[in-house]
Amino acid sequence: MKISKENALLDRLFDEAHFDLNPDQDSCPDCGDEGYVHDCIDGFCQDAEVGCEDCTRRCVECARFEQSIRRHVELDVLRFMSLPLAKEFLRRCNQWSNKITERALLANLHAGRVGRKEFSDQERADSACWVECLL
Ligand SMILES: [Zn+2]
Ligand SMILES: [Zn+2]
Repeated sequence: MKISKENALLDRLFDEAHFDLNPDQDSCPDCGDEGYVHDCIDGFCQDAEVGCEDCTRRCVECARFEQSIRRHVELDVLRFMSLPLAKEFLRRCNQWSNKITERALLANLHAGRVGRKEFSDQERADSACWVECLL
């Protein structure tokens, strides 16, 4: 599949978010970037070093970091206010569905701006105007 302009831009935004939120590229303090942690109960685990099915969990710290990255990139997406970019972003977050209309998407972007303190009244007024224009 050809890499679209939006995809390339999103890659860059994700990279920048990683850099902003973790400039030293530290490993996760909880799991060392494995993405999983093992909470072994003494004597029940086959191998406490590696962990087993019963004690292996998704790392909460990693999930939290991913969440911050997503919010960081989302802010950029809201700034761009571009439908193809927003669509690609949702796709990447597994939140895209073909049922989402352009109008709904735009309304969503506008709602995102309204809900974020990072945007000025002027920026909100701009996005409200774009929603109107699509009517
Ligand atoms: Zn175990
Ligand atoms: Zn982790």
